[in-house]
Amino acid sequence: MIYHLITTPDCNLCCEYCCGKSFQEPESKIKFESVPSKPQFTQAQLNSFLKKDKDKPVSIIFYGGEPLLNIDFIKQTMDAQEKYKTVDNFLIQTNATLLDKLPKKYVNRFHTILVSIDGGRITTNKNRGEGTWEKVINNVKLVKSNGFKKEIIARMTIEEPTHFFEDIMDLINPKDENGFSFNSIHWQLDANMWHDYKKRNFSNWIREYNLDITKLTDFWVSEMKKGRVLRLYPFLGLMNSLIFGNKFYLRCGSGVSNFTIISNGKISACPIMQGINEKYLGDINSTNPKNLSFKLTCSSPCTKCSEFELCGGRCLYSNLYPAWPKKGVNEICDSIKHLISEMKRIQPEVEVLLKNKVIKKKDFDFLKYNCCEIIP
Ligand code: SF4
Ligand code: SF4
Repeated sequence: MIYHLITTPDCNLCCEYCCGKSFQEPESKIKFESVPSKPQFTQAQLNSFLKKDKDKPVSIIFYGGEPLLNIDFIKQTMDAQEKYKTVDNFLIQTNATLLDKLPKKYVNRFHTILVSIDGGRITTNKNRGEGTWEKVINNVKLVKSNGFKKEIIARMTIEEPTHFFEDIMDLINPKDENGFSFNSIHWQLDANMWHDYKKRNFSNWIREYNLDITKLTDFWVSEMKKGRVLRLYPFLGLMNSLIFGNKFYLRCGSGVSNFTIISNGKISACPIMQGINEKYLGDINSTNPKNLSFKLTCSSPCTKCSEFELCGGRCLYSNLYPAWPKKGVNEICDSIKHLISEMKRIQPEVEVLLKNKVIKKKDFDFLKYNCCEIIP
């Protein structure tokens, strides 16, 4: 089981597609209650909840808001687990602007660090605020020079008017001499989360995005021919299922094997549902984690879709609370179908490369539900 552990709902940035849009959102039909800015439970309470599920590996993803705004709680949780030994893996999803504040003995214990960055300097700073790209890149370099050897995943949030192919290439092979070359990247469309479809030019942009997916697919295979499997998570996750038959339900794992522990001790299916009282699934004092799975799942249109098995439903939250009209939802689904068809197109080539040992099966392994939703 994987748990997003909310260290604080607060954030130190105001990104364009998150905090920025929240100010423009019309009166939402969803009732959000405010949650405490720090966890209201003890390490002993947390551990007695986690250990009830110890027959399987337990992973914690520190999450927010920005999780590093509550470094003390991160340190306390990791220190407590030195004694309890219930948690197998610690991960963190962070904007990385404060990563230099966490001592390296904690950083080096992470299984994975997921870093929010949208591409090169111009795109990232436009979305996340001036100076953010520089801070993130410096902190990633610092973490590496302090001995972190495991996976660092760049997490892009993408939307118009950006150029996806250019932006992702700026992470793989940075144009800027001060950049950092990421081997692992996940991207997520900012789509169907806010009531913003009519204000946007998504229909035109998604056509360009689909062409970029084709271009990136060709680039991905060309790198494989040189023996390098870039860990582009939407590609990696789908190819993993196509070739090795690994099954997923909802690919982010929300409500299946991935739950969120909110600062008030309540449990929700995913981090975005913190504050939505009507969808809470339990709390850490009285709920057995073994009873959490499949209480909340995707319904129509996903369950009737021909691609449900591979797609898994994209996003439980937007399936429950769609913010876009049908036209916009169809455009997203068409882009998912295009992505799947591109992976099927190159599948025979990838299988030959595997057979000829140019690449290996283990190149496609990853920790299931590691905070990459796979379907963008
Ligand atoms: S393609 Fe669209 S409708 Fe089909 S399963 Fe995915 S999100 Fe649901
Ligand atoms: S994809 Fe949707 S349901 Fe899954 S974690 Fe993200 S917001 Fe939650």
